[in-house]
Amino acid sequence: MGTVVIKFGGSSLSTTDKIKNAARMIIAEKENGKNVVAVVSAMGKTTDQLLTLAGEITARPAKREMDMLLTTGEQVSISLLSMALTEMGAEAVSLTGWQAGIITEKVHNNARIVDVKADHIEKILQEGKIIVAAGFQGVTEDGEITTLGRGGSDTTAVALAAALKAERCSICTDVTGVFTSDPRYVPKARKLASISYDEMLELANLGAGVLHPRAVEFAKNHSVSLEVRSSSESEKGTVIEEEASMEKNLIVRGVAFEDNITRMTVFGLKDEITGLPSVFSTLAANQIDVDIIIQSQTDNETNLSFSIKDKDRQEAVEVLEKEKEAIGFDHIECETGLSKVSIVGSGMVSNPGVAAKMFAVLADNGIQSKMVSTSEIKVSVLVDAEQMKPAAQHLHDAFELGALEETASK
Ligand code: ASP
Ligand code: MG
Repeated sequence: MGTVVIKFGGSSLSTTDKIKNAARMIIAEKENGKNVVAVVSAMGKTTDQLLTLAGEITARPAKREMDMLLTTGEQVSISLLSMALTEMGAEAVSLTGWQAGIITEKVHNNARIVDVKADHIEKILQEGKIIVAAGFQGVTEDGEITTLGRGGSDTTAVALAAALKAERCSICTDVTGVFTSDPRYVPKARKLASISYDEMLELANLGAGVLHPRAVEFAKNHSVSLEVRSSSESEKGTVIEEEASMEKNLIVRGVAFEDNITRMTVFGLKDEITGLPSVFSTLAANQIDVDIIIQSQTDNETNLSFSIKDKDRQEAVEVLEKEKEAIGFDHIECETGLSKVSIVGSGMVSNPGVAAKMFAVLADNGIQSKMVSTSEIKVSVLVDAEQMKPAAQHLHDAFELGALEETASK
């Protein structure tokens, strides 16, 4: 019997009525002859509320205790959904992340899954029961409870799908699929029928909140057949696969954006050869992700600019200042209130001039790009936060992403 993993996000579980709706979808899969593993997030804004509670007590909660707190959110969902399934006549068992065999590295708040011990789950499935597993949480080999980073339930779902060799992993959410851009900011955005793992990975990393980047990475590495669809409408979703069919040969397939970015500059690096690695290894040792990096040289000075998330700014400054002597630099300056706007598409590999067009579109609309980074299939620029939305809209228009007949329903 084939197995399917079906994941529900917090917005699809925000009320008991929605939980009942999720239960009906799960039962429909079961009646279709599938083994079903449901993976759930915390109800609605629960995780945010738990974070707020912690914030009322301390500005710097211990990361271990944060995990202990946040994992309670998903436990509420698994038990309620399991009850709903039972009430509807199905046999269901709720499992926490650790009961489901999700083993992670020893990192709190942003752990990676290192193993899935699936024997327990497999045994329950063989008994014909539906499993309701808590997303976003795992356990280290030492028995410490960890979480996978915000949005991490997607990754739990994909990891379970890979371990169980599931025929499909459906991510059910409050949108009907993956869009060419966020319809709340770009009204002409439309749903894509399919997209490649690589494009989705770039979009997810660049701020398209629809999927957790690590989930996409995991799906690509294990060839998990992934689908994003609505939890309330029966409309077909977006399939994420190895080679997406090129609709109308679009070179650019999506415009993503993200705000709350800081540009940090370390001025006066004394020794550019040792200074460069020590700056970044100091940040890496503290799990601070650095994005765009620019090194600039004057006659007697090396300066290093890079972008990080606003939330990491304070910690980044602190850890670098602590190592000031060892690294050898003069001072640090930060520019906040920036946003990153990116275009993504596999077609860029074989089509020169995409970046040139992007810069021309921004310049024509009086938008200054402050930092640029590229990969084979994306170009990102940092702009002032208030220019994020117009930049996204102009790029979406210029690359004709809204031009197809299928239009956004949200
Ligand atoms: N509840 C967690 C969060 O809000 C995990 C998830 O939703 O995937 O980030
Ligand atoms: Mg999510």
